[in-house]
Amino acid sequence: MSEIQKFLFDGLPVRGAIVRVDSPWQEVLTRRANNSETGAYPAGLSRVLGEMTAAGLLMQSNIHFDGALVLQIQGDGPVRLAVAEVKSDLRFRATATIAPSQQDKIAADATLKDMFNVHGQGRCAITLDADEKHPSYQPYQGIVSLMDEDGNTLPSLSEILQQYMRLSEQLDTVLIVAANETVAAGLLIQRIPVKGEGNLAGAQANTEEQDVLGHNEDFNRIATLAHSLAEQELLELDSDTILRRLFWQETLSRVDTQGREPHFGCQCDRERVSNMLRGLGQEEVSDMLEGDKPIEVGCEFCGAQYHFDAVDVAQIFSAPATNQNLQDGHQLH
Ligand SMILES: [Zn+2]
Repeated sequence: MSEIQKFLFDGLPVRGAIVRVDSPWQEVLTRRANNSETGAYPAGLSRVLGEMTAAGLLMQSNIHFDGALVLQIQGDGPVRLAVAEVKSDLRFRATATIAPSQQDKIAADATLKDMFNVHGQGRCAITLDADEKHPSYQPYQGIVSLMDEDGNTLPSLSEILQQYMRLSEQLDTVLIVAANETVAAGLLIQRIPVKGEGNLAGAQANTEEQDVLGHNEDFNRIATLAHSLAEQELLELDSDTILRRLFWQETLSRVDTQGREPHFGCQCDRERVSNMLRGLGQEEVSDMLEGDKPIEVGCEFCGAQYHFDAVDVAQIFSAPATNQNLQDGHQLH
């Protein structure tokens, strides 16, 4: 079962979310495996991509934002790019690009360093791209390196994202994600300011100082419990069991997730691909036509194939452009 649950710790300025995705995650892997251009992901890479998907779902569910949250790792090693994109309704897609002839060289137990940070140039980027765009709109983007302060590659995506949150939001956050070939799952725990809208549980404090002290003690206790969650537990147990095991001494209130459920979905369509071709220019696109063979454009996210013959190409360059943005993730073959 795929689900996301959000919750508050009663009387404490701490909130959380837990996500578990099975068949929609398997669909991402199956579509890739069925793509004759790429073949299946190496196990080490599918694990990271699943972790990115779980993290993206948790982060998207944790903000009030209409648009796409895009988590990317740009690599300097055998994996050039890994992308997980989650829309506000928890529709997600994910893909990765492997450098030419490197597919077979990525070991099943490859680390983040092996795949993305061979020369220390790997980067993790989080982008918020709103649905409603004004002409001057710039998406928000935060970027962090994959290394700690001592120059060592961080061992897991969880630690990279925790570092990101520490450096950007300054909200104490625990983020634990795990994935395998069947499940992508994660747990997020976050300290929230006691004053303001986060104060749903009515926590009271006499002075500012006590307020701050109280926060930290409560958050630290819950964070320690969260950190005791083992990867295997996250992958194998259902969400209710995990929450009960970790937080049986705490009182949790569920937050309505408004029926939102993680599901796979790709936004590619023929019009977007046409716009992408239009952006390349008529000369270049006409050169791609070889005799009677149509141009084939494959979507890296879902594997859909779009074909354009000479008539289609002529039409693209005679019709007025629509105002959709150019989409990446399309590969010309
Ligand atoms: Zn697609």
